[in-house]
Amino acid sequence: MKKKGYVIANWKMNPDTVADAKELFFDIKSVVGRLKNLNVVIAPPIIFLAELRRLYSGRQLEFGAQNISFEEKGSFTGETSAKMARSIGTTYVIVGHSERRLMGETDKDVNKKIVAALLQKFTIVLCIGEKERDSQGSYLSFLEEELRSALTGVSKKSLKHILIAYEPIWAIGKTGKEAMSPRDVHETSLFLHKILMQIYDRKSAFAVPILYGGSVEPENNEELLHGGGISGFLVGHASLETSSFLSILKTSNNFFGNS
Ligand code: PEP
Repeated sequence: MKKKGYVIANWKMNPDTVADAKELFFDIKSVVGRLKNLNVVIAPPIIFLAELRRLYSGRQLEFGAQNISFEEKGSFTGETSAKMARSIGTTYVIVGHSERRLMGETDKDVNKKIVAALLQKFTIVLCIGEKERDSQGSYLSFLEEELRSALTGVSKKSLKHILIAYEPIWAIGKTGKEAMSPRDVHETSLFLHKILMQIYDRKSAFAVPILYGGSVEPENNEELLHGGGISGFLVGHASLETSSFLSILKTSNNFFGNS
């Protein structure tokens, strides 16, 4: 059976109003029924999530939280627990995004969030990525450490619920020209699968989908799919522009339909 690809939209702290969120959502909803080769996930701000979820009764589109707390409940002002996010129909959660790490989230926190998300049966989008690429290759040990630490105590069985979004920080939020080259993406995804193989085994390691994120645009997504050895994308700014996002969805759907 053909494997479906993934396109996950990370809206971050956008758009400004629930009305704008609905407009963007309706544009995506109108095409999603045709995308048989993709798992399409929208991760809007949590404040809009329940409202958007109510507007959708199909199965082709799923909803993601951009973050959760690792705490179960209690006095944690401003936080959202895994159980709360799950209770409004969210099935995916992004964990360890570099923008959250920049706000102080540690490798240990990321690991605790994964454990909390697994308990609530989420599909987890674990983000990892280096700040810069040095010629000595120390970014590889950085990636290895981020990955090993995030997966501490995660069983082989639970690995089935995890996707990895490889997002080099230097490539996030730029123009398509500054995305990583497909060849480098491919090399890195092989490297990550190799680390997973060391922790688990070959079969479970290569079953983990590795997505790429970082300035994915209509102009570069096709070459990234063809040369990157990836299972899809985590898309930031281009997911907020209807025509760009629909174009990425269409190209990805065609690619996974033919691969
Ligand atoms: C992201 O931050 O998850 C991301 C992929 O952003 P962008 O596409 O804007 O680079």
